[in-house]
Amino acid sequence: MNVIITADRLYTPLEQIEWPVVFITDGVITGVRSRPECELPAGSTVVDLGGAVLVPGFLDMHIHGGAGHDVMEARGALPILEQFLLRHGVTSYLPTTVTAPLDQTLAALDRLGEAIQRADQGGPIHDGLRARPVGIHLEGPFISHLRRGVHPPADLLPPTLEAFERFWEASHGQIKVMTIAPELEGARAVIAEATRRGVCVSMGHSDADAKAAQAGVAAGIRHATHTFNAMRALDHRDPGILGEVLMDERLSAEIIADGVHVDPLVVQLFLRLKGPETSVLVTDATAATGMPAGRYRLGGLEVDVADGKCMADGKLAGSVLTMDKAVRNVMKVANWDLQQAVRLATLNPARAVGLPAHSGKLVPGAVADMVALNANGDVLQTIVRGQVA
Ligand SMILES: [Zn+2]
Repeated sequence: MNVIITADRLYTPLEQIEWPVVFITDGVITGVRSRPECELPAGSTVVDLGGAVLVPGFLDMHIHGGAGHDVMEARGALPILEQFLLRHGVTSYLPTTVTAPLDQTLAALDRLGEAIQRADQGGPIHDGLRARPVGIHLEGPFISHLRRGVHPPADLLPPTLEAFERFWEASHGQIKVMTIAPELEGARAVIAEATRRGVCVSMGHSDADAKAAQAGVAAGIRHATHTFNAMRALDHRDPGILGEVLMDERLSAEIIADGVHVDPLVVQLFLRLKGPETSVLVTDATAATGMPAGRYRLGGLEVDVADGKCMADGKLAGSVLTMDKAVRNVMKVANWDLQQAVRLATLNPARAVGLPAHSGKLVPGAVADMVALNANGDVLQTIVRGQVA
Protein backbone atom coordinates (compact mmCIF):
# COMPACT_ATOMS: atom_id res chain seq x y z
CA MET A 1 0.00 0.00 0.00
CA ASN A 2 1.29 3.46 -0.93
CA VAL A 3 0.88 6.37 1.47
CA ILE A 4 2.13 9.92 1.14
CA ILE A 5 2.47 12.19 4.16
CA THR A 6 2.95 15.92 3.87
CA ALA A 7 3.60 18.53 6.54
CA ASP A 8 5.21 21.92 7.08
CA ARG A 9 8.67 20.81 8.05
CA LEU A 10 10.64 17.62 8.74
CA TYR A 11 13.72 16.85 10.81
CA THR A 12 15.49 13.67 9.72
CA PRO A 13 16.68 14.71 12.52
CA LEU A 14 20.13 15.71 11.24
CA GLU A 15 18.67 17.61 8.28
CA GLN A 16 15.75 19.99 7.97
CA ILE A 17 13.35 19.76 5.01
CA GLU A 18 10.68 22.41 4.34
CA TRP A 19 7.34 21.29 2.87
CA PRO A 20 8.27 17.63 3.16
CA VAL A 21 6.64 14.84 1.19
CA VAL A 22 7.27 11.38 2.65
CA PHE A 23 6.64 8.44 0.32
CA ILE A 24 5.77 5.19 2.08
CA THR A 25 5.22 1.71 0.64
CA ASP A 26 4.11 -1.13 2.91
CA GLY A 27 5.16 0.73 6.02
CA VAL A 28 8.67 1.61 4.83
CA ILE A 29 9.87 5.04 3.70
CA THR A 30 10.84 5.00 0.02
CA GLY A 31 11.52 8.71 -0.43
CA VAL A 32 11.71 12.01 1.45
CA ARG A 33 11.48 15.08 -0.78
CA SER A 34 10.32 18.68 -0.70
CA ARG A 35 7.00 19.59 -2.35
CA PRO A 36 8.36 22.10 -4.89
CA GLU A 37 10.61 19.40 -6.36
CA CYS A 38 8.13 16.54 -6.75
CA GLU A 39 4.70 15.62 -8.05
CA LEU A 40 2.25 13.59 -6.00
CA PRO A 41 1.46 10.42 -7.99
CA ALA A 42 -2.18 9.52 -8.52
CA GLY A 43 -3.62 6.52 -6.70
CA SER A 44 -1.84 7.08 -3.39
CA THR A 45 -3.45 7.88 -0.06
CA VAL A 46 -2.32 11.40 0.89
CA VAL A 47 -2.25 12.38 4.56
CA ASP A 48 -1.78 16.14 4.93
CA LEU A 49 -0.58 17.03 8.41
CA GLY A 50 -0.90 20.76 7.80
CA GLY A 51 1.35 22.90 9.96
CA ALA A 52 3.05 20.01 11.76
CA VAL A 53 6.73 19.22 12.13
CA LEU A 54 7.50 15.57 11.29
CA VAL A 55 10.24 13.80 13.24
CA PRO A 56 11.16 10.14 13.72
CA GLY A 57 9.10 8.21 16.28
CA PHE A 58 10.67 8.47 19.74
CA LEU A 59 12.66 5.55 21.18
CA ASP A 60 12.73 5.09 24.96
CA MET A 61 15.61 2.80 25.95
CA HIS A 62 14.84 2.83 29.69
CA ILE A 63 11.21 2.40 30.70
CA HIS A 64 9.58 0.14 33.30
CA GLY A 65 5.92 0.77 32.60
CA GLY A 66 3.04 3.20 32.19
CA ALA A 67 -0.75 3.45 32.10
CA GLY A 68 -0.99 1.34 35.28
CA HIS A 69 1.19 -1.56 34.08
CA ASP A 70 4.74 -2.76 34.71
CA VAL A 71 6.67 -4.60 31.98
CA MET A 72 7.53 -7.44 34.42
CA GLU A 73 3.86 -8.25 35.06
CA ALA A 74 2.76 -11.76 34.20
CA ARG A 75 0.32 -10.96 31.43
CA GLY A 76 -1.58 -8.35 29.51
CA ALA A 77 0.61 -5.38 30.39
CA LEU A 78 2.36 -4.63 27.13
CA PRO A 79 -0.54 -3.85 24.75
CA ILE A 80 -1.97 -1.24 27.13
CA LEU A 81 1.45 0.33 27.72
CA GLU A 82 2.18 0.31 23.98
CA GLN A 83 -1.02 2.16 23.09
CA PHE A 84 -0.28 4.68 25.84
CA LEU A 85 3.25 5.25 24.50
CA LEU A 86 1.93 6.23 21.06
CA ARG A 87 0.06 9.12 22.63
CA HIS A 88 3.43 10.46 23.74
CA GLY A 89 5.18 9.96 20.41
CA VAL A 90 7.06 6.79 21.41
CA THR A 91 6.97 4.19 18.62
CA SER A 92 9.64 1.84 19.98
CA TYR A 93 11.01 1.07 23.41
CA LEU A 94 13.17 -1.23 25.49
CA PRO A 95 11.12 -2.78 28.30
CA THR A 96 13.40 -2.47 31.33
CA THR A 97 13.58 -4.96 34.18
CA VAL A 98 14.41 -4.10 37.79
CA THR A 99 16.19 -6.46 40.19
CA ALA A 100 13.82 -9.18 41.41
CA PRO A 101 14.07 -12.78 42.67
CA LEU A 102 15.87 -14.87 40.05
CA ASP A 103 12.86 -16.93 38.95
CA GLN A 104 10.77 -13.79 38.46
CA THR A 105 13.50 -12.14 36.42
CA LEU A 106 13.93 -15.22 34.22
CA ALA A 107 10.16 -15.48 33.66
CA ALA A 108 9.92 -11.80 32.76
CA LEU A 109 12.87 -12.06 30.35
CA ASP A 110 11.22 -15.05 28.67
CA ARG A 111 7.92 -13.21 28.18
CA LEU A 112 9.58 -10.00 27.00
CA GLY A 113 11.90 -11.87 24.63
CA GLU A 114 8.91 -13.62 23.05
CA ALA A 115 6.98 -10.35 22.74
CA ILE A 116 9.95 -8.79 20.94
CA GLN A 117 10.26 -11.72 18.56
CA ARG A 118 6.54 -11.49 17.77
CA ALA A 119 6.77 -7.76 17.13
CA ASP A 120 9.88 -8.36 15.04
CA GLN A 121 8.12 -10.69 12.68
CA GLY A 122 6.32 -7.54 11.56
CA GLY A 123 3.57 -8.37 9.13
CA PRO A 124 0.13 -6.92 9.64
CA ILE A 125 -0.41 -4.99 12.83
CA HIS A 126 -2.99 -6.76 14.92
CA ASP A 127 -4.86 -5.43 17.96
CA GLY A 128 -4.57 -1.87 16.67
CA LEU A 129 -1.47 0.26 16.36
CA ARG A 130 1.10 0.04 19.15
CA ALA A 131 4.64 1.00 20.04
CA ARG A 132 7.09 -1.83 19.38
CA PRO A 133 9.44 -3.45 21.92
CA VAL A 134 12.84 -3.69 20.18
CA GLY A 135 15.02 -5.22 22.90
CA ILE A 136 15.28 -5.66 26.65
CA HIS A 137 17.17 -3.39 29.03
CA LEU A 138 18.40 -5.54 31.94
CA GLU A 139 18.86 -2.98 34.73
CA GLY A 140 19.75 -5.35 37.59
CA PRO A 141 20.98 -7.49 39.30
CA PHE A 142 24.69 -6.78 38.53
CA ILE A 143 24.68 -3.51 40.46
CA SER A 144 26.33 -2.06 43.56
CA HIS A 145 24.85 -2.46 47.03
CA LEU A 146 26.08 1.06 47.74
CA ARG A 147 24.15 2.59 44.82
CA ARG A 148 21.24 0.22 44.43
CA GLY A 149 18.51 2.88 44.77
CA VAL A 150 15.34 0.89 45.40
CA HIS A 151 16.55 -2.36 43.82
CA PRO A 152 16.00 -4.98 46.56
CA PRO A 153 19.37 -5.83 48.20
CA ALA A 154 18.60 -9.53 48.72
CA ASP A 155 18.26 -10.08 44.97
CA LEU A 156 21.43 -8.32 43.78
CA LEU A 157 23.96 -10.75 42.27
CA PRO A 158 27.68 -10.55 41.66
CA PRO A 159 28.33 -10.55 37.90
CA THR A 160 29.30 -13.99 36.59
CA LEU A 161 29.33 -15.46 33.11
CA GLU A 162 27.02 -18.25 34.34
CA ALA A 163 24.37 -15.81 35.57
CA PHE A 164 24.66 -13.71 32.41
CA GLU A 165 24.23 -16.84 30.29
CA ARG A 166 21.02 -17.74 32.15
CA PHE A 167 19.57 -14.26 31.57
CA TRP A 168 20.63 -14.33 27.93
CA GLU A 169 19.04 -17.74 27.30
CA ALA A 170 15.84 -16.76 29.12
CA SER A 171 15.55 -13.60 27.00
CA HIS A 172 15.86 -15.52 23.72
CA GLY A 173 18.93 -13.39 23.02
CA GLN A 174 16.88 -10.18 23.17
CA ILE A 175 18.88 -8.30 25.83
CA LYS A 176 20.11 -5.21 23.99
CA VAL A 177 21.18 -3.05 26.94
CA MET A 178 22.63 -4.17 30.27
CA THR A 179 23.34 -1.91 33.23
CA ILE A 180 26.29 -3.00 35.34
CA ALA A 181 28.51 -1.56 38.09
CA PRO A 182 32.02 -1.92 36.58
CA GLU A 183 33.79 -2.00 39.96
CA LEU A 184 32.21 -5.31 41.00
CA GLU A 185 34.39 -8.37 41.02
CA GLY A 186 33.81 -10.35 37.85
CA ALA A 187 32.24 -7.39 36.03
CA ARG A 188 34.90 -7.06 33.37
CA ALA A 189 34.52 -10.59 32.03
CA VAL A 190 30.73 -10.14 31.85
CA ILE A 191 31.09 -6.73 30.16
CA ALA A 192 33.42 -8.23 27.54
CA GLU A 193 31.16 -11.22 26.85
CA ALA A 194 27.96 -9.13 26.63
CA THR A 195 29.73 -6.68 24.30
CA ARG A 196 30.85 -9.59 22.13
CA ARG A 197 27.17 -10.56 21.76
CA GLY A 198 26.23 -7.06 20.61
CA VAL A 199 24.75 -5.84 23.92
CA CYS A 200 25.16 -2.13 24.72
CA VAL A 201 26.76 -2.40 28.15
CA SER A 202 25.96 0.60 30.30
CA MET A 203 27.53 1.63 33.59
CA GLY A 204 25.17 2.61 36.35
CA HIS A 205 23.96 1.95 39.88
CA SER A 206 27.67 2.18 40.58
CA ASP A 207 30.12 3.47 43.14
CA ALA A 208 33.09 3.18 40.76
CA ASP A 209 36.02 5.54 41.01
CA ALA A 210 37.33 6.95 37.74
CA LYS A 211 39.87 4.18 37.33
CA ALA A 212 37.31 1.38 37.70
CA ALA A 213 34.96 3.19 35.31
CA GLN A 214 37.76 3.50 32.74
CA ALA A 215 38.59 -0.18 33.13
CA GLY A 216 34.93 -0.93 32.42
CA VAL A 217 35.10 1.17 29.26
CA ALA A 218 38.24 -0.68 28.20
CA ALA A 219 36.28 -3.93 28.65
CA GLY A 220 33.45 -2.73 26.38
CA ILE A 221 31.14 -0.30 28.20
CA ARG A 222 29.85 2.42 25.87
CA HIS A 223 26.88 4.00 27.67
CA ALA A 224 25.77 5.28 31.08
CA THR A 225 22.47 4.61 32.87
CA HIS A 226 20.48 7.62 34.20
CA THR A 227 23.57 9.79 34.69
CA PHE A 228 23.91 11.28 38.20
CA ASN A 229 21.19 9.06 39.69
CA ALA A 230 22.49 6.05 41.65
CA MET A 231 26.11 7.05 40.94
CA ARG A 232 29.02 8.00 43.19
CA ALA A 233 28.94 11.81 43.35
CA LEU A 234 31.44 14.00 41.49
CA ASP A 235 34.18 15.41 43.69
CA HIS A 236 36.93 17.67 42.40
CA ARG A 237 39.63 15.38 43.83
CA ASP A 238 37.71 12.17 43.23
CA PRO A 239 35.90 12.53 39.88
CA GLY A 240 34.64 8.95 40.03
CA ILE A 241 32.35 7.34 37.47
CA LEU A 242 30.77 10.72 36.69
CA GLY A 243 34.09 12.24 35.63
CA GLU A 244 34.48 9.40 33.13
CA VAL A 245 30.85 9.48 31.89
CA LEU A 246 30.84 13.23 31.36
CA MET A 247 34.28 13.57 29.78
CA ASP A 248 34.69 10.45 27.60
CA GLU A 249 33.36 11.36 24.14
CA ARG A 250 33.03 7.70 23.19
CA LEU A 251 30.27 7.21 25.75
CA SER A 252 26.62 8.04 25.22
CA ALA A 253 24.67 8.75 28.38
CA GLU A 254 21.10 8.79 29.64
CA ILE A 255 19.50 11.64 31.54
CA ILE A 256 16.08 11.77 33.23
CA ALA A 257 15.02 15.34 32.42
CA ASP A 258 11.90 15.52 34.59
CA GLY A 259 13.10 18.30 36.89
CA VAL A 260 12.91 15.87 39.84
CA HIS A 261 15.74 13.36 39.29
CA VAL A 262 18.34 15.94 38.29
CA ASP A 263 18.28 19.68 38.96
CA PRO A 264 17.66 21.68 35.76
CA LEU A 265 21.02 23.43 36.19
CA VAL A 266 22.78 20.04 36.24
CA VAL A 267 20.75 18.92 33.22
CA GLN A 268 22.21 21.98 31.45
CA LEU A 269 25.70 21.01 32.54
CA PHE A 270 25.13 17.47 31.25
CA LEU A 271 23.80 18.68 27.90
CA ARG A 272 26.73 21.02 27.44
CA LEU A 273 29.24 18.26 28.13
CA LYS A 274 27.58 15.34 26.29
CA GLY A 275 26.22 17.62 23.55
CA PRO A 276 23.70 16.85 20.78
CA GLU A 277 25.79 13.84 19.71
CA THR A 278 25.83 11.63 22.82
CA SER A 279 23.07 12.84 25.17
CA VAL A 280 20.13 10.41 25.39
CA LEU A 281 16.75 11.17 26.93
CA VAL A 282 15.09 8.36 28.87
CA THR A 283 11.98 8.39 31.02
CA ASP A 284 12.70 5.58 33.55
CA ALA A 285 8.90 5.67 33.72
CA THR A 286 6.92 3.41 36.04
CA ALA A 287 3.40 2.00 35.89
CA ALA A 288 2.21 5.21 37.56
CA THR A 289 2.90 7.26 34.44
CA GLY A 290 -0.29 8.71 33.02
CA MET A 291 -2.22 7.64 36.13
CA PRO A 292 -3.61 9.48 39.18
CA ALA A 293 -1.62 9.60 42.45
CA GLY A 294 -1.64 6.33 44.37
CA ARG A 295 0.24 3.06 44.88
CA TYR A 296 1.72 1.20 41.90
CA ARG A 297 4.11 -1.66 41.12
CA LEU A 298 7.71 -1.38 39.95
CA GLY A 299 8.87 -4.92 39.23
CA GLY A 300 8.25 -6.66 42.57
CA LEU A 301 8.18 -3.39 44.56
CA GLU A 302 5.40 -1.08 45.59
CA VAL A 303 5.88 2.62 44.92
CA ASP A 304 3.84 5.57 46.16
CA VAL A 305 3.19 8.33 43.70
CA ALA A 306 2.26 11.93 44.51
CA ASP A 307 3.20 15.35 43.10
CA GLY A 308 5.07 13.87 40.14
CA LYS A 309 7.38 11.77 42.35
CA CYS A 310 7.56 7.96 42.71
CA MET A 311 8.91 6.97 46.10
CA ALA A 312 9.72 3.68 47.79
CA ASP A 313 11.56 3.36 51.05
CA GLY A 314 12.15 7.15 51.14
CA LYS A 315 14.02 7.03 47.80
CA LEU A 316 13.11 8.03 44.25
CA ALA A 317 11.84 4.95 42.41
CA GLY A 318 11.53 5.71 38.72
CA SER A 319 9.50 8.54 37.26
CA VAL A 320 6.17 9.56 35.76
CA LEU A 321 7.91 11.31 32.87
CA THR A 322 6.82 10.91 29.24
CA MET A 323 9.25 11.29 26.33
CA ASP A 324 7.45 14.24 24.70
CA LYS A 325 7.67 16.08 28.03
CA ALA A 326 11.38 15.27 28.29
CA VAL A 327 11.94 16.80 24.83
CA ARG A 328 10.04 19.94 25.82
CA ASN A 329 11.97 20.15 29.10
CA VAL A 330 15.29 20.13 27.21
CA MET A 331 14.02 22.99 25.05
CA LYS A 332 12.99 24.88 28.17
CA VAL A 333 15.93 24.34 30.52
CA ALA A 334 18.76 24.44 27.98
CA ASN A 335 17.15 26.66 25.36
CA TRP A 336 17.79 24.03 22.68
CA ASP A 337 15.71 24.13 19.52
CA LEU A 338 13.24 21.37 18.64
CA GLN A 339 15.52 19.78 16.03
CA GLN A 340 18.39 19.38 18.50
CA ALA A 341 16.15 18.19 21.33
CA VAL A 342 14.43 15.59 19.14
CA ARG A 343 17.76 14.02 18.28
CA LEU A 344 18.12 12.98 21.95
CA ALA A 345 14.90 10.94 21.73
CA THR A 346 15.43 9.40 18.27
CA LEU A 347 18.80 9.02 16.57
CA ASN A 348 20.95 9.07 19.71
CA PRO A 349 19.18 6.24 21.55
CA ALA A 350 18.98 4.22 18.30
CA ARG A 351 22.76 4.51 17.95
CA ALA A 352 23.36 3.80 21.62
CA VAL A 353 21.28 0.62 21.51
CA GLY A 354 22.92 -0.42 18.26
CA LEU A 355 19.72 -0.72 16.21
CA PRO A 356 20.00 -1.10 12.40
CA ALA A 357 21.43 1.84 10.46
CA HIS A 358 18.17 3.60 9.48
CA SER A 359 16.65 3.47 12.97
CA GLY A 360 15.85 6.81 14.55
CA LYS A 361 15.95 8.57 11.17
CA LEU A 362 13.43 9.59 8.52
CA VAL A 363 15.29 8.44 5.44
CA PRO A 364 14.57 6.01 2.59
CA GLY A 365 14.75 2.45 3.88
CA ALA A 366 13.61 3.33 7.42
CA VAL A 367 10.38 2.00 8.94
CA ALA A 368 7.77 4.78 8.63
CA ASP A 369 7.40 5.42 12.36
CA MET A 370 7.06 9.15 12.98
CA VAL A 371 5.57 11.83 15.16
CA ALA A 372 3.88 15.03 14.07
CA LEU A 373 4.67 17.78 16.58
CA ASN A 374 3.76 21.43 16.88
CA ALA A 375 6.54 23.99 17.29
CA ASN A 376 6.48 23.55 21.10
CA GLY A 377 7.04 19.81 20.85
CA ASP A 378 3.46 18.80 21.68
CA VAL A 379 2.38 15.54 20.00
CA LEU A 380 -0.31 16.08 17.32
CA GLN A 381 -0.26 12.62 15.67
CA THR A 382 1.81 9.48 15.84
CA ILE A 383 2.33 7.38 12.72
CA VAL A 384 3.20 3.68 12.95
CA ARG A 385 4.45 1.93 9.84
CA GLY A 386 2.80 4.59 7.69
CA GLN A 387 -0.55 4.43 9.47
CA VAL A 388 -1.93 7.32 11.51
CA ALA A 389 -2.59 6.08 15.06
ZN1 LIG B 1 15.21 2.23 35.75
